[in-house]
Amino acid sequence: MHRPALSIVIPCYNEAACLDALHARVSAAAHGAVGGDHEIVLVNDGSRDASWAVMQRLAATDPRLVAINLSRNHGHQLALTAGLDLCSGDQILILDADLQDPPELLNDMRAVMAAEGADVVYAVRRRREGETFFKKLTAAAFYRVLDRVTDTPIPLDTGDFRLMSRRALDALLSMPEQARFIRGMVAWVGFRQVPFAYDRAERHAGETKYPLSKMLSFAFDAVTGFSTAPLRFASHIGLWLFALSFLLMIYIGIGFFTGSAVQGWTSTMLVTVFLGAVQMFVLGMIGEYLGRLYVESKRRPLYLVADVAGPVRGVATLGY
Ligand code: UDP
Ligand code: MG
Repeated sequence: MHRPALSIVIPCYNEAACLDALHARVSAAAHGAVGGDHEIVLVNDGSRDASWAVMQRLAATDPRLVAINLSRNHGHQLALTAGLDLCSGDQILILDADLQDPPELLNDMRAVMAAEGADVVYAVRRRREGETFFKKLTAAAFYRVLDRVTDTPIPLDTGDFRLMSRRALDALLSMPEQARFIRGMVAWVGFRQVPFAYDRAERHAGETKYPLSKMLSFAFDAVTGFSTAPLRFASHIGLWLFALSFLLMIYIGIGFFTGSAVQGWTSTMLVTVFLGAVQMFVLGMIGEYLGRLYVESKRRPLYLVADVAGPVRGVATLGY
């Protein structure tokens, strides 16, 4: 089996308006870097627009393009996993379909990889153009909170845009979890990983495919996948509450001996409500982990491939 020098893997969900420009720019960048010895892997993640039709048309004109049609929308991280599973290059570049990550940086990233002898060159966002204040704020907060609670150092302000060596990718693909937070999993793999600063461009067309609900489940997968801090939180809160109630006992004891009036209903309610809230929160956190344990224990395939257009070198169509 011939391994191309470079695979470029791109998950796409409702990106029909971006695909032609994407293909032109990615193809030019790849030719500039490695000549014809590359493959472009587009994964259609159950788009509801014309994405798959456009991919088939592109695959018919470009023998280096492989298009994979998943059976439904499996989500960004699983669509990316499907593409990574099926690509066969010696180096792998991960890209978003909306051209927010400029493919033209490929040459510079390869130069850094060669100069540093690195296995991963990850792109760090210096600036983000054309994104809402809300998105920038939540993203900045997310990466900082994540950094505090995880044991694996996950680089700040880094998306999935990165260049990887084959051995780093194979290590990543050996991780079987269902809840996949790929940028964290790559960090966990180790080897030599170096940052590469860039300015994130505006979306080429369309709007973000990450509504708040997807952002939240992405964040939960990240935290629960890389940290047990929320579980430990329960015991920490318990300790603090114990200290607090001890102080309260002293206070009540003093009141008893000095004969001051019995405290009223308000304080009782306050404590009851507060404790109720804490208990619900902690129970909820335990539920989050339990739910994930349940999902993992089912060992379902990560994704299902419905169709392939173009030459696919890997064979798997079920992602285990
Ligand atoms: N994406 C996907 N499946 C989804 C949601 C998004 O494959 O369910 C792809 C999308 O097409 C894009 C990438 O994931 O290539 C990142 O999504 P987007 O650009 O909408 O996220 P943002 O840049 O706004 O964070
Ligand atoms: Mg985007």
